[in-house]
Amino acid sequence: MLIHASHVLTMREGATSAPATLRIEGERITELAPYQGLEARSGEEVMTLDRHVLMPGLINAHCHLDYTGFKGSIFAGKGFTEWIKTINALKLSYTPDDYLAAIQSGFEQLKQSGCTTVLNIEAFPELLLRLGPPPIRTWWFLELIDLRNRIGQDDTLMGALTFFQGQPGWLGGFGLSPHAPYTSSVELYRLAKHCSDELGLPITTHIAESVEEQEMFLYGEGPMYNFLQSIGRDMQDCGQGSALSHLMEFGLLSGKCLSVHMNYLQHYDFQALRENPLNVVHCPGCHAYFGHARFPLEQLREAGCRISIGTDSLASNDTLDLRKEIRRARLNYPEVSAREWLHMVTTAPAQALGMESELGVIAPGALADLIAFPLPERTDPFEAVIQSQEAPVLFMVNGGCGS
Ligand SMILES: [Zn+2]
Repeated sequence: MLIHASHVLTMREGATSAPATLRIEGERITELAPYQGLEARSGEEVMTLDRHVLMPGLINAHCHLDYTGFKGSIFAGKGFTEWIKTINALKLSYTPDDYLAAIQSGFEQLKQSGCTTVLNIEAFPELLLRLGPPPIRTWWFLELIDLRNRIGQDDTLMGALTFFQGQPGWLGGFGLSPHAPYTSSVELYRLAKHCSDELGLPITTHIAESVEEQEMFLYGEGPMYNFLQSIGRDMQDCGQGSALSHLMEFGLLSGKCLSVHMNYLQHYDFQALRENPLNVVHCPGCHAYFGHARFPLEQLREAGCRISIGTDSLASNDTLDLRKEIRRARLNYPEVSAREWLHMVTTAPAQALGMESELGVIAPGALADLIAFPLPERTDPFEAVIQSQEAPVLFMVNGGCGS
C-alpha cells in the first residue's frame, strides 16, 4: 500500500512536518520518500491524504481498562484513601462479564481517539482467557499486590506468563505491575524485577501519587497509614523516607520501569533521579481529579527523566483520549511545545518499552501503526492533532485498517 500525505509527522528527532509518501508491506512501513516519490506497483492500493496530518498512532502509557465502567461513580472530594475504599467496594459488585464489557468499551474509546497502543494494568488475568485478540497493540501488565496474602504470587505470575506465551497472534506484549509501595512489599518488587530481568519484561508501578502516601512513608501517619495499619499491613517501612527512596535504595527501579504519577518527591529523590533517570508517566486528568500538587514536569526532565502521558482509568478520570489529556496538561506548562507533547505520546513510551525503532515513529522498518486527522486552514500540524476532537480519518494498526 502507498500513502501520499501532505503533512507527515515522522516524530523522528528534530523532524518537522513534511509532505511524504510511504509504502506499507504487511505489518511494516518499508519505504519513506518525498511526496509522490514512490510509484505504485501493479495492483497496489494507493491512498492520498491532502490537507491531512499523518503520524504514528498514539501510545497510552498508563491505563486500567478493567475500570472503564466506573466513570463518574466515585466522588473525589474525600481524598485518596477514601477513593481506594470506594473502588474496592465497587470492584466487588462487578461480574467477570461486566469487566469484559468494560475492557471492550475501553478499547473502542481508545480507537476513536487515535490510540494504537495501550499499556494496560490487568488486575484479573483470568479475564484474558475469555478475551479475543485485542483490537490495538496492548501490553498487559499483571497487577501484583501482596498486602494481605504473600503466598503464591510466583504461581500466579507463571500461570499468566504461560497463558500469554500461548497467544502468539496477539499484538503487544506482557509486563508486570507491582501496584504501589503501599500495597506491594519490597519482596514482591524484588520478585517482579527478577522476572523482568530474566524474561525481558517491562515493569510499571504507581509511585508517590498522593499526599496521603507521602505522609505515610515520610512521617508514619495520616489516613492511608491508619487504614493500611487497620487491615494488617506491616508498617515498619513507614517514617523512613519517601515512597520513591524506599524502592530506589533497594535497587528495585531501573530504566526499564515506567514509574507512574511521581507527584510528591523530595529533594533527595531528584538527586537520586539525576543518577538513575526513570521513565515517568504523568496522568493529567487523574491528577486534576484528585487535585494533587503541581506535577514536577520541569524538575523531572531536568533530572533526565523521560516523560510519557497516560490516562489512568475512568475511575479517576473522565476520558481515555490522550489529545484531551494534553489539552488539559498544557495549561500548566505553556512553555512546552505541541511537538514535545506529541513526543510524550509516541516516542517516549516507545523508548520506555525498548521499541523505539518499531513504535511511535514513521520510518522504514517501523510497525505500520498510523493515524490521520484533517488539517484546518492556518493551523500548525502538531497543533492540529492536539486540537482534533473527532475520530481519526485513518486508523491503522499493524498495517491493517480493519475492526
Ligand atoms: Zn493507575
